[in-house]
Amino acid sequence: MNIDLHCHSNVSDGLLSPSELVCRAREKGVGVLALTDHDDVGGLVEARAAARIHGMRLIDGVEISVTWRTHTIHVVGLNIDAHHHRLCEGLRGIRHGRIERAKRIAMALGAHGIKDSLEGAYAFAGNPQLIGRMHFARFLVDAGHARNLKAVFKKFLVKGKPGYSPHQWVELGEALQWIRAAGGIAVLAHPGRYNMGAGTMRDLLVEFKALGGGAIEVVTGSHRAEQFPVFAKYSVTYGFLASRGSDYHGPGESFTELGGLPELPAMCEPVWRDWL
Ligand code: AMP
Ligand code: MN
Ligand code: MN
Ligand code: MN
Repeated sequence: MNIDLHCHSNVSDGLLSPSELVCRAREKGVGVLALTDHDDVGGLVEARAAARIHGMRLIDGVEISVTWRTHTIHVVGLNIDAHHHRLCEGLRGIRHGRIERAKRIAMALGAHGIKDSLEGAYAFAGNPQLIGRMHFARFLVDAGHARNLKAVFKKFLVKGKPGYSPHQWVELGEALQWIRAAGGIAVLAHPGRYNMGAGTMRDLLVEFKALGGGAIEVVTGSHRAEQFPVFAKYSVTYGFLASRGSDYHGPGESFTELGGLPELPAMCEPVWRDWL
């Protein structure tokens, strides 16, 4: 069974609508898909209807933006009750913060001589409630400021570069409370992407566990292949279930196709062990 537990629709910063995404996942042989848009669960109704038509299993998910110490990290909630009041209110607060951040990003780009980027970014946003750096990135590429998305994130929008604006996301403990209140399991997304030393990673894993985190992503499109065994070992050492997800954002924008990753290493206990 091909299981993909991390991807994005145009309700956040993906390119495809939720139903297009589900349809493509089906074509690629995915049997169980989790839609995990950033800070928004608004795509799940459409995705569920499409999954029913295609005879696929859909897992309700979300990817929450979190500030831990000085790091921005992402926590995926799987099997959540997407109507849960506390979760929905929390996500609404994050989206509001994104709108304020977008204004600051546009100001910073303006100071660098790039005009009208707020309108430009919104033109690329499928959901005006959920604006992010990817929408600015698409605008910047379209306006000729960089060759492609990879180049854009080297030149702009990251720490030390024009268009970066520091932002306070939700605290880790709070995000985990929302996910748990909504009956879901909290999964630390792409831990290999956070540029932390081993000591800091250990602190994060210990704290994530203590706060009720249940799993970490091991095989993800956001890890390099040589990181799969490293985080497989972390999952065993710290007693986490392991997840697998492409982090697919759309045709031409993701190196990893839906369902297009290797299996979890044999030492891992899959996060879906109790669902299937
Ligand atoms: P945000 O949550 O709005 O700060 O945007 C984060 C999103 O930007 C990630 O989920 C990715 O989709 C995208 N992103 C961040 N860094 C990069 C990068 N270096 N290359 C490509 N996409 C990136
Ligand atoms: Mn994204
Ligand atoms: Mn992420
Ligand atoms: Mn993601």
